[in-house]
Amino acid sequence: MRPQEIIAKKRDGKILSRREINAFITGVTDETWADYQTSALLMAMFMGGLAQEEQNTLTEAMLNSGERLDFSEIDAPLADKHSTGGVGDKTSLIIAPVVAACGVFVPMISGRGLGHTGGTLDKLEAIRGYNVNLSTEEFKETIKICGFAMSGQTAKIAPADKKLYALRDATATVESIPLIVASIMSKKLAEGLDALVLDVKTGSGAFMQNFDDAKNLARALCKTGNAFGVKTEAVISDMNQPLGKFVGNALEVFECVKILRGEIDEQMRATLELSIELAARMLMLCGVADTIQDSRFKIQDSLDSGEALEKFRQNIECQNGAAEVCDDPEILLDKNLIEVEVKSEKTGFITEIDAGAIGESISRIGGGRIKVEDKVDFAVGYECVKKLGDRVNSGETLGAIFCRNRAQTHLIYEKLANAYKIDDEEPSGKFELVKK
Ligand code: URA
Repeated sequence: MRPQEIIAKKRDGKILSRREINAFITGVTDETWADYQTSALLMAMFMGGLAQEEQNTLTEAMLNSGERLDFSEIDAPLADKHSTGGVGDKTSLIIAPVVAACGVFVPMISGRGLGHTGGTLDKLEAIRGYNVNLSTEEFKETIKICGFAMSGQTAKIAPADKKLYALRDATATVESIPLIVASIMSKKLAEGLDALVLDVKTGSGAFMQNFDDAKNLARALCKTGNAFGVKTEAVISDMNQPLGKFVGNALEVFECVKILRGEIDEQMRATLELSIELAARMLMLCGVADTIQDSRFKIQDSLDSGEALEKFRQNIECQNGAAEVCDDPEILLDKNLIEVEVKSEKTGFITEIDAGAIGESISRIGGGRIKVEDKVDFAVGYECVKKLGDRVNSGETLGAIFCRNRAQTHLIYEKLANAYKIDDEEPSGKFELVKK
């Protein structure tokens, strides 16, 4: 079937057959479809949506464009967590060792940060020597030794997604739930999982700012995951403020190690709380805990006993990183940075925080990427001193910038100060981390 016939069929609101969707993805992979034809079909899909059978077929075709990891020799349940991306979202670094310590293996294929959001691979590279480019064999070996591995997506996993994502980015078709679902799930399904927990973020620093959109995305992701036999659950979590205490790669690893060491302070609490919520669901889905209470108990035990920290140490060693960060997390902090406090200009209560603006500010001073090719400065970042609902006095510190020089401070100070809305009235509602 010629591309223009498939495009016309979708344009006219009809449901594409398995053969047509497979022809599309084959055409994308072997480049017999021109970029303008692929883009036209993506736009037709964006406008018309996909029926569930089209959604499943598209996901499967993208999955089959590459290789699937085979863990059949591993005698343990396999689970992963995927987040739709946020600011200060560092839960992977806690979840992977905790879940591994509870007997579930975690093959975590992660991404890099872009725009205002961070990426797990960048955080891990803040640990000196840590290798995030494992071959499939090294990835498997690492999992066998320490229960989890964290690596970047190889060119062999869902290569069709890479091409489609670049064209979606260039044609304003990224924000389509069926296309997002096919993109995320084609990569996650390649991990050969038994269970998957999705952390769908909503709020000022999220991809899906609106709660209903987040809910629809969560539902669609679960439907597709379960259709492929992977037990899939989603949590909708708050991204109306950065998660936890720090934003910035090395600072975020520092926060995670402190949590794994049990040296937690108030600002870090949300990071731990969300990590436990997501990890508990992974254990439940894998059947290693009977109730959510039992799951939480196992997780707390792995933290209190130091087993989770030991798993993290083992993993860093396996992936060639400087494991001494587990004994002395201060090593992660660059002493050459300057610290500049962001002060409140008003007295009142913090009623809104533009988490996206905070993430973007840190990216602008090198803590993330504005463009894909940007080089990252792992050390710079931001400390969230005050959180939503806190009372502040005029002149009091809202947060602290860790940067290289005054020029960087000038570049982002105002944006950061303006990210906080301070009102006279104390906010009446509760700020829920996990949404119902
Ligand atoms: N993350 C992905 O991997 N794909 C999307 O389309 C959106 C977010």
